[in-house]
Amino acid sequence: MAAAVDPERSEWDVIVLGGAAAGENAAQYAAQFSGLESVLVEAELVGGECSYWACMPSKGLLRPVEVLNTARHLPGVTSLVGENGIDVDAVLDRRDAIVNNLSDDSQVRWAVDTGIDVVRGYGRLTGERTVAVTKPDGSLRTITARHAVVVDTGSRASVPDIPGLRAARPWISRDVTHLREIPRRVAVLGGGVVACEAATWLCGLGVEELTLVHRGSALLAKQEPFAGELVAAELEKSGANLLLGRSVTAVRRDEVAAEAGVGIAHGGPATLTLDDGSELTVDEIVVALGRVPASDDIGLPSVGLPNGGYLDVDDQQQVKGVPGQWLYAIGDVCGRALLTHMGKYQARIAGEVIASRANGGGAPGGFAAELSTAQGHRAVPQVTFTDPEVASVGLTEQAAREAGIDVETVEYDMAALAGTYLLREEYTGRAKLVVDRATDTLVGATFAGSGVADLLHSATVAMVGRVPVSALWHAVPSYPTPSEIWLRLLETLNRNRRLGSDA
Ligand SMILES: Cc1cc2nc3c(=O)[nH]c(=O)nc-3n(C[C@H](O)[C@H](O)[C@H](O)COP(=O)(O)OP(=O)(O)OC[C@H]3O[C@@H](n4cnc5c(N)ncnc54)[C@H](O)[C@@H]3O)c2cc1C
Repeated sequence: MAAAVDPERSEWDVIVLGGAAAGENAAQYAAQFSGLESVLVEAELVGGECSYWACMPSKGLLRPVEVLNTARHLPGVTSLVGENGIDVDAVLDRRDAIVNNLSDDSQVRWAVDTGIDVVRGYGRLTGERTVAVTKPDGSLRTITARHAVVVDTGSRASVPDIPGLRAARPWISRDVTHLREIPRRVAVLGGGVVACEAATWLCGLGVEELTLVHRGSALLAKQEPFAGELVAAELEKSGANLLLGRSVTAVRRDEVAAEAGVGIAHGGPATLTLDDGSELTVDEIVVALGRVPASDDIGLPSVGLPNGGYLDVDDQQQVKGVPGQWLYAIGDVCGRALLTHMGKYQARIAGEVIASRANGGGAPGGFAAELSTAQGHRAVPQVTFTDPEVASVGLTEQAAREAGIDVETVEYDMAALAGTYLLREEYTGRAKLVVDRATDTLVGATFAGSGVADLLHSATVAMVGRVPVSALWHAVPSYPTPSEIWLRLLETLNRNRRLGSDA
């Protein structure tokens, strides 16, 4: 077990409020070359939402679904799989192992081995560089930071104020990633990443009737339109009923199980009324309608900030409107990009900024010479682990045009590659590049298809490095791999330019 923190200790150089993965990085980067001492204040589990209730368990549930689907489309293996479905118990056991059975022992051990202290409890700012921690036994401990406080309190699922919905105790993301039983009939509310991923694993794990209700006319609306269309088609193939352009106006659940735990049915059947007056009866509702920042009970008014809302930060992750260069925010709570890897990136920069300022302000050496998150935020990568996967970075064509960028675009069918033909039969996918005409560099790239997740980093590198498209021509993709898509996209772009036509 990790060494206990001196219970009388009241001062550190850096306090990180919220010990998620981003917070761990901030504490580490502030301390590692500077001699500063940092402490994590964590109310639940060190490692945060991603490790236990979000990224890791969800991907653990999706992987077997993807493998089985591939096996069903790979002659030589298909006959071995036959009509067999998923071994649900084994999948749930592996999910539990992936989240260390909700034990954070190994993460605490990492922190202590790295020289970072961990204080258990719920923290609230009470003034400049001061945090009051309510310990698990209810007692209060006040700690102060010599240099900085970093807020990494994350976000929680938003359950909107639809009549009867909250009273019905619907499942939120924590329940659907931690499901312990497979409901027969499920309504998924939402059409974004979490809704589409959850619908994918619920269908794969054997939900008999899955209905996805989404107010918008398309899934994954923040992506290129073809991404949502491909995902919708596959969900329908796996039996999902998609109600797009429709919303829920009321929910009725007569029997609510007030004490039912995470991932267990929260009551008897629930009936949803839709905006056209029709009704839908299901055994569980999954709400995937966005997130709210966990900032409404962390003492923001004590430092002159309004209570709640995203914390507005600059490119060094310093919270705007608070004098003294001591308050920083990273991760979901700052609202810049609700993704683990972006929170950790912000944390690395914030940690270096804090260390640099504490040691007189000189720019640190190594990779940290540029103390700004501006570059990385020009090229935010995201993978949606649906079938097909959607991997995107930067801007969509529409977003680029709305930002006033004069762009040319090119698209190509991912299925028309030797590298994807080998992966499986009935491959579906598409890719698109968005190129800034003025600089001849990428401002966005999207790949949809099985096995495209690892293609994404090549586009991110090209964007961050501002590599001209003409130079990308000399980056030869290996044959036969899905990365041949680069050659096909560039050939098409080149042809369009020579013949004077757009994609
Ligand atoms: C189902 C699902 C799947 C996802 N999949 C992915 C994915 O594949 N890839 C990806 O990049 N992102 C994914 N995300 C998003 C990702 O989970 C979040 O962006 C990430 O967890 C945010 O990290 P964070 O550091 O902001 O804080 P969080 O992970 O939200 O953690 C905040 C921590 O602060 C603690 N805390 C809060 N308030 C206090 C307080 N006052 N005092 C002490 N402690 C406090 C909490 O207990 C928690 O441990 C997914 C999200 C969901 C819901």
